Amino acid sequence: MSLYGHYDSQNIFALILRGEAPSYKVYEDADVLAFLDVFPQSLGHILVIPKECQARNILDVEPAVLGTMMSAVQQLTRVVLDELKPDGVQIVQFNGAAAGQTVYHIHIHIIPRWDGEGLGVHAKDRADPAELETLQARLVERIHSNRLASPMLERC
Ligand code: 5GP
Repeated sequence: MSLYGHYDSQNIFALILRGEAPSYKVYEDADVLAFLDVFPQSLGHILVIPKECQARNILDVEPAVLGTMMSAVQQLTRVVLDELKPDGVQIVQFNGAAAGQTVYHIHIHIIPRWDGEGLGVHAKDRADPAELETLQARLVERIHSNRLASPMLERC
């Protein structure tokens, strides 16, 4: 059933969007917000969410919004590559509890990977806040120096 249902405006990402819960933002424009996953599966694990769209998963979201999200994901992946120099990057999106989804506001994971380094367990170990702050500062600085362009968005 978790694939279908009503959007819960009290989900943690909705709270973050409304400023009612804290987050380590790395990028924001009129359409998307990107912030660090506080239970990262690797160094630099970022989540990208649409701001105005009340979609729970890929079934609910307008294609234009999905396109805008992916545009931001592509640009942020370049930022991650420039700053953290991983050997690879996983782009992941879960739909429904059976697939591993735990937060029901559509989002895309950017997960840097290094040769020989395993993947952390999904949504399990909370990162050290000081390390997240340092990482946030590095990525924000890199975004500024890369002059990340705002992706276009037609609202859902
Ligand atoms: P999903 O499992 O729905 O694909 O991904 C949800 C992600 O949100 C997980 O990777 C989990 O670690 C992350 N997450 C859960 N609660 C919070 C939170 O309060 N803040 C942040 N930044 N990430 C969270």
